[in-house]
Amino acid sequence: MIEIPESLSLSLQLNNTIKGKTIKNVCVNSTPHKLAWFYKDPNNYNNLLTNKKVDYIESIAGFIEISVEDVKILFSDGVTIRYYSQNDKSPNKYQLLIEFTDESSLVCNIQMYGGLWVFPEGEFDNHYYLLAKEKPSPLSEEFDFEYFNNLFNKYKDTKLSAKAFLATEQRIPGLGNGVLQDILFIASINPKRKINTLNDNDVNRLYRSIKLTLIEMAEQRGRNTEKDIFGNSGSYKTIMSKLNDDSKCPNCRSSLIKEAYLGGSVYYCPKCQILE
Ligand SMILES: [Zn+2]
Repeated sequence: MIEIPESLSLSLQLNNTIKGKTIKNVCVNSTPHKLAWFYKDPNNYNNLLTNKKVDYIESIAGFIEISVEDVKILFSDGVTIRYYSQNDKSPNKYQLLIEFTDESSLVCNIQMYGGLWVFPEGEFDNHYYLLAKEKPSPLSEEFDFEYFNNLFNKYKDTKLSAKAFLATEQRIPGLGNGVLQDILFIASINPKRKINTLNDNDVNRLYRSIKLTLIEMAEQRGRNTEKDIFGNSGSYKTIMSKLNDDSKCPNCRSSLIKEAYLGGSVYYCPKCQILE
């Protein structure tokens, strides 16, 4: 799933590969997918986009937005975006195919679910998209300790767990169940720990871990569980992910624990991330 570091890295790659190209043709649903979400009738995408030029690509939390003159193409997490040059053979199965006049193309497929929205600028009022545009990215200067502490204080007397606080309800758009795992490991906080048990030091450590872990992941072009537009994995080696199911904790050599929790698996070290 695309989260903040992958969205940044994919946007950068797309700016380097498709910026300035003119769209020749758009096709949808060669293989329909039940959980592929479109804006109005996707058969109209071709009319909206053909003969228009790609201006720039932006990362917005976990979204990727491509500006094509007066139209936006917006991808949510859960979309696999692949680029094929004129010499590559592109796959026949897709939910969205964008061909450029130089014969290169973007091929988009949905994993479990995902949005492939194409709309005239300003027309799309999806709640998650608007929140993502409005709230500061954890990588921005605006997301400083004061901002995070205020956010934390709003919820500190609730029974929310660390995972629920960080990765649900769009409190921090683009911070999802993927990047969450290493952020909490590095902060030595158990994903199930109630945030009303965190002291000032814990909150400080958590803030620093959000910043530093996401910077590190972004600098390494995303996590090694995710792929870029050429199909290559990111270089950030996840400590807590499906790739490390059978691994030991790098700090104390305990066996890591994987559990289903709040819609998705959580991974943690039972010794370094004690549940208080
Ligand atoms: Zn440990």
